[in-house]
Amino acid sequence: MAATEDSSRTSIVPGTPTVSSRYMNLLPGDEQRANYARQVNSALYSIAAPTPVSAPTTLLWSKSVSADLGFDRKFCESAEFAALMSGNKTFPGSEPFAMRYGGHQFGQWAGQLGDGRAINLGELAASDGRVLNLQLKGAGPTPYSRGADGRAVLRSSVREYLCSEAMFHLGVPTTRALSLVLTGDEVLRDMFYDGNAQQEPGAIVCRVAPTFIRFGHFQLCAYRGETEILKQLMDHTIVADFPHLPNPAECAEAQRRQVYLRWFEEVCRRTGDMVLAWMRVGFVHGVMNTDNMSILGLTIDYGPYGWIDDYNPEWTPNTTDAQGRRYRFGQQADIALWNLYQLANALLVVLEDPDPVQKILEDYQRYYDAAWTTMMLSKLGLTTNLGESDDALLAELLALLAEQETDMTIFYRKLADFDPSLPASDLLSVVEEAFYAPDAMPQELHARYEVWANTYATRLRGEALDYETRKTNMNAVNPWFVLRNYLAQEAIEHAQKGDYSMLYALDEALLNPYVEQAQFAQFFAKRPEWARHRAGASMLSCSS
Ligand code: AMP
Ligand code: MG
Repeated sequence: MAATEDSSRTSIVPGTPTVSSRYMNLLPGDEQRANYARQVNSALYSIAAPTPVSAPTTLLWSKSVSADLGFDRKFCESAEFAALMSGNKTFPGSEPFAMRYGGHQFGQWAGQLGDGRAINLGELAASDGRVLNLQLKGAGPTPYSRGADGRAVLRSSVREYLCSEAMFHLGVPTTRALSLVLTGDEVLRDMFYDGNAQQEPGAIVCRVAPTFIRFGHFQLCAYRGETEILKQLMDHTIVADFPHLPNPAECAEAQRRQVYLRWFEEVCRRTGDMVLAWMRVGFVHGVMNTDNMSILGLTIDYGPYGWIDDYNPEWTPNTTDAQGRRYRFGQQADIALWNLYQLANALLVVLEDPDPVQKILEDYQRYYDAAWTTMMLSKLGLTTNLGESDDALLAELLALLAEQETDMTIFYRKLADFDPSLPASDLLSVVEEAFYAPDAMPQELHARYEVWANTYATRLRGEALDYETRKTNMNAVNPWFVLRNYLAQEAIEHAQKGDYSMLYALDEALLNPYVEQAQFAQFFAKRPEWARHRAGASMLSCSS
């Protein structure tokens, strides 16, 4: 039951910023303007107005994103803001639209997907000179909804809002969240696809990013044989989002190909840097389909993602992927590479010669492997790389962590307290809090840890850094706060009953993830037993 159209939808408070959209103005759009599900050919977007909601109320808004956009507190707390962030009103200048893209889902080409429940409002200039696009997720159906309702529920919107903001403050490349608005309407969802559909509160998140273009945008053009449009999209992306590269349209043919290659190389690097950051903080995306891969290397589409509690490279939070575990923690770099190959295949329609593309992908693999080692050594407080012996040090540690349930976040955070001038046997007591069952540790594992601690202590003593400096360095890469699955789930369960206190607490704790925050000490804790097999806390589906 959606609200009917009223005059407040079109009357805009003076001073509300005017938006525009280069994507819409410069790229080919769908000539059909009616909003019904269909295949869209030879166009990169379709006009799609948000469907009004009954009673929009702002539940959360990001102080930092609103500051980037020059929105003050008064505006963000106004009814006008809630109306804009739910799609009940549109910004001056805005003609909302949905983008067309395709993608590989779980390794299979899925054809046209597109913004089925995301509606773009246009772009605004940020205070730092960047251009930022605003997009409402859950604002109603579009031509790309494929029979679904275009809506989102509170539980998935809280997960998107909190996690994208948490990731940003962790230093992980990501789309942002400006707001989370309750719609006042209910949405029917079958959370486990088992026939038990339930009404849930509806919500809308306003996502913000320099661009929402995905690998799947390019892929669909290539699959449909729309070579000219593919070229146009490549040129547009380079000019709009990679402005440090020359404008391909102004280059001679040979130079133009070089620009495309430099661009693809940069896309590879950014994708790799994003995955490296995930591996550092223990984030599992859960649905690394090519339609969920941002061309800017931003984490996008927070669905059945999860955070590593006990270190287990085999883990995936996504029940839809439980069989093959394609998107498990330890396989994310390989999947990113597979996805880059799919993007490369699409670009080859324009680039034609596969050899330089292949070389970029091979160089990228070497780059990633080296960067991964540097990142992992930094988690141990090591600033140099001794090659094979360090590889062995890392491999043995990861094997030890996986041997018995060990909390990844707590382990690395506590490791910073290990003083190599004291006996190496101290290591286990320093990190004891990380073990789920410290008393059940077998003697053999105990002994292996001691051997590792000895090697590690020797290695630390060989570095020039003093204890305090190293500790500061380690605490800057090993977070104290991550958005543990069970914490988000608890906050959601309270919010569904109208108690937002935990939501607000998490929204505050995530601002300083590398700082030990005494007032939030309860968030630095291993997963409780109840959360081990609880829906939402350990098992998530794509239903959102
Ligand atoms: P995801 O698995 O969230 O990446 O979504 C895959 C595709 O399904 C995208 O094209 C989404 O826009 C679309 N989609 C997901 N949920 C909905 C929904 N409730 N209504 C319409 N489209 C949806
Ligand atoms: Mg998606």
